[in-house]
Amino acid sequence: MSIKQIILKHGKEEALKRRHPWIFSGAIFKAEGNPDNGEIVHVVTGKNEPLGTGFYSRGSIAIRLFEFDVVDPTAKYWSAKIGKAIDFRKSIGLYGSKVTNVFRLFNAEGDGIPGLIIDFYNGVAVIQCHTHGTYALRNEFAEALKDNLGKDLKAVYDKSAESLGEEGAENSYLYQAKGFNPEEVQTVTENGFQFAIDWVSGQKTGFFIDQRDNRKLLGEYSKGKKVLNTFCYTGGFSVYALAAGATLVHSVDSSLKAVELADHNVELNLKDANHESFSDDVFSFFKNYPETYDVIVLDPPAFAKHMNARHSAIIAYKRLNTEAFKRVNKGGIVFSFSCSGVVTRELFEGAVTAAAIEAGRNVRVLTRLGQPACHPVSIFHSEGEYLKGLVLYVE
Ligand code: SAH
Repeated sequence: MSIKQIILKHGKEEALKRRHPWIFSGAIFKAEGNPDNGEIVHVVTGKNEPLGTGFYSRGSIAIRLFEFDVVDPTAKYWSAKIGKAIDFRKSIGLYGSKVTNVFRLFNAEGDGIPGLIIDFYNGVAVIQCHTHGTYALRNEFAEALKDNLGKDLKAVYDKSAESLGEEGAENSYLYQAKGFNPEEVQTVTENGFQFAIDWVSGQKTGFFIDQRDNRKLLGEYSKGKKVLNTFCYTGGFSVYALAAGATLVHSVDSSLKAVELADHNVELNLKDANHESFSDDVFSFFKNYPETYDVIVLDPPAFAKHMNARHSAIIAYKRLNTEAFKRVNKGGIVFSFSCSGVVTRELFEGAVTAAAIEAGRNVRVLTRLGQPACHPVSIFHSEGEYLKGLVLYVE
């Protein structure tokens, strides 16, 4: 079956020439043969000049390009793309590292296939497809992982049901090497710390890999400090703070399962740690538990996943940061994050500024934080930079 062609309106090729991988529906002059949702299409100008190849979709982002040229992708093509992503992780010392065996192996647009996320958990690859185009190719991606990783690959688990947001998509193993036992609890190592992972029932692909560098930095601020880790999930920040010598860490998450995992992970790494966890809504915790802290971590879930939720998200960031500024001791530190893609750094920092004003505290920015190197962002696609963080000194 030949690949259908999409002809762009005159002048709409400019953004593509700047290597931005999205084409909005308004840019399309003509779509040949009514392509299906997720179908691979070729994109050309009105003069039939080749522009790219991508996944067609019936949304406002009509095409997501994976190549800025006209190509007919084969199994070999996908394998080479995934191989390139693995080579990059090798070149920065992540793949094969002795202290870290959990990282993002493929980061969507940042690695050249929009809609495809692959996280690596000590030999188990968890695939998360965000579009129909990538979901249709999940078995090709599993094969590509086998090609590239050989004996290093223990299993491939497809966890796209939630990210695809569609009925019918079910999570399942696409591959299991001989000897792999899916019932066994898997433990990974991050910067030398152990974490038990459950990609089947855990949130996202099982672990928030994107906070690796920021957790390490928190450790540097935690010695001798009383620390509050809000939205703790599996307790990543708590483990680093305690290991670095925090005198006490309180971990809060509304999910009881998360809090249990956080407790378990603290025990995996430390004996007799001064750690207490609370299964509570963070806002009610702040209301009902009138403690103050030297260091507070705010790492909420994405308050806005879509543009129409952006305004209320900004209000929620302001409210949350106000609570932290009211509760942090003089000379204390707040690590404040936003992982909402649609909330830009400028908007996020505006909300934090408004919170400092409301709390009546003088706040200084020590460091601006983002995603680790295994979550690369194409410089032409700033939308890929979803994680924004601030290290703040509160006078
Ligand atoms: N900081 C974590 C990741 C946080 S993910 C890490 O390093 O791994 C966001 C977490 O917030 C989830 O575990 C979710 O259960 C929790 N959560 C969401 N809304 C909440 C609320 N209102 N109060 C407390 N926890 C909440």
